[in-house]
Amino acid sequence: MIYMDHSATTPVDPEVVAAMSPYWTELYGNPSSLYGLGRRAAAALQSSRETAARLLHCEPSEIVFTSCGTESDNLAIRGVVLAAAAKGRRHVITTPIEHPAVLHTVADLVERFDCEVTHVPVDRAGMVDPRTIEAAIRPDTALISVMMANNEVGTVEPIAEIGAIARRHGVPFHTDAVQAGAYLPLDVQALNVDLLALSAHKFHGPKGVGLLYVRKGLRLMPAQTGGSQERARRAGTENVPYIVGMVRALELADARRPSETERLIALRERLIEGVLERIPDVEVTGHRTERLPGHASLIIYGVEAQSLLIGLDLAGIAASSGSACASGAPTPSGVLRAMGYAPNDALGALRLTLGRSNTESDVDTLLDELPPIVKRVRGG
Ligand code: PLP
Repeated sequence: MIYMDHSATTPVDPEVVAAMSPYWTELYGNPSSLYGLGRRAAAALQSSRETAARLLHCEPSEIVFTSCGTESDNLAIRGVVLAAAAKGRRHVITTPIEHPAVLHTVADLVERFDCEVTHVPVDRAGMVDPRTIEAAIRPDTALISVMMANNEVGTVEPIAEIGAIARRHGVPFHTDAVQAGAYLPLDVQALNVDLLALSAHKFHGPKGVGLLYVRKGLRLMPAQTGGSQERARRAGTENVPYIVGMVRALELADARRPSETERLIALRERLIEGVLERIPDVEVTGHRTERLPGHASLIIYGVEAQSLLIGLDLAGIAASSGSACASGAPTPSGVLRAMGYAPNDALGALRLTLGRSNTESDVDTLLDELPPIVKRVRGG
């Protein structure tokens, strides 16, 4: 099987599995326990926190371990906005191309907590203009939330610029960096962010574990009540094996980033150029250069991508028609709609996301297999 869906998830690195393994069997202690076994677990947790902090250029106390990217986004957005709402600030600025983890959380704040939201527009490349963010800021703005890289079209947003604006206006700034974790530098100081969400399974760590960077001093209402773990910001016994695995995966991603970035950009360009040469009526979606290294997203006009996915699957290639969460039903992508694409055209969206395992030969196989499938689906 050729796996071209790395934006959906990634296989766990064997080195990560090896790092996690002792924490299920020999070192299974609860990090809150005072005896040796507990202290060993607490030490692993602390060491993971310090490594994560070094990689994100922050302090260990600013890292909150969570159960996934979705939880990190929820904690960031609900936590900050509900704390600010108590002081009369209830306005949120975000974009229409965010992941449902952000979009639905903001919608819930509007529905149930009387908050207001401004969705700033994006251009046809899915790019946010920082000036529109600045223009949307109000005295009661509690939070700005803009994703670092889009999961469907790969566009990388101008986070540092938006962060500088947010800081100038004293508004907390959250970025969903879930898609960026494997590929983009995560220096929270350079990015000017106050909250940054990550999910391990996007960078060869396990599913079901994430983290949230929370800048010191930021008021955050905890989402759940219970013990005082994670400095009372996220109650519940810490998932030590998964946290150890996530941080090991983050270290590996950081070390491999320069060479992987270059390699994946070359593969992506080979794929995109090859498809454009071989198949008529195709458009690349997302920004042509400011995009995730291995991310190729296309609209193949005149087809429903669902049919292409079946053909590709039969040819042994795993791909996606947009976000994994939406691929059950053929509804046009809200991201592409917000970028100005017609609903019918958006149904032709094909996403091929390359990663660590992919080679030139995988791309060439795709370039051999896809054109006849498209031809067949188009009825020619
Ligand atoms: N944010 C973005 C941009 C994503 O792509 C995803 C997952 O696809 C998430 C958040 C949710 O992460 P998780 O699957 O860990 O809940």
